[in-house]
Amino acid sequence: MRKAMLLEVLYHRHGWWPRRRVLQAGGLALVGMAAGIPLPGAAQEALPPTPQCDGGKGHATPRQTAGPFYTPNTPQRASLLEAGTKGAPIMVTGMVLNTRCEPLAGALLDFWQANADGVYDNEGYTMRGHQFTDAKGQYRLETVRPGLYPGRTRHIHVNVQAPHGQVLTTQLYFPKEAGNTQDSIFDERLVVAMPPSAANPVARFDFVLPG
Ligand code: FE
Repeated sequence: MRKAMLLEVLYHRHGWWPRRRVLQAGGLALVGMAAGIPLPGAAQEALPPTPQCDGGKGHATPRQTAGPFYTPNTPQRASLLEAGTKGAPIMVTGMVLNTRCEPLAGALLDFWQANADGVYDNEGYTMRGHQFTDAKGQYRLETVRPGLYPGRTRHIHVNVQAPHGQVLTTQLYFPKEAGNTQDSIFDERLVVAMPPSAANPVARFDFVLPG
């Protein structure tokens, strides 16, 4: 698995694409499906909004590389937790908006990440899953804090796509991670809002899609 980690570092830093995987998120049926996922209550409301939707100034969420470990045709699920999943639980929640700060219902979010040991499942769908925003443009991901692997700070990959829109590929980061300053593709604008300390933290991030 050390080889797999090296591949992603090489890809991120040098654009080297070692395998056949092709981004196919656009192939997922985007038919305005609403996930109907309830958002958590007070814990989420206490968080400040992320700055990405800037009052309609037209700035979309920054794009980032997908890296070599995306797998298409993921299961539809809001929780990546399975029986025996190791790691610290975390919830990532927020909205998908357009650049006019209007919520987008039925937007696709396809998440993938390393497990708590810093390992990607390149054979199956562990720590992979897609969901759609509800009628209010909200999403909610239940997962664990992704583990670290050499060359990268802690991160979650995601493809976000409005119905019939283009895919925006990016990554989410965590605040106060020692590795953030060492990671050449880390972007402060992609850091989730998160309480400084909580047993089961809720992180917040709003995605803004162009157009
Ligand atoms: Fe990665």
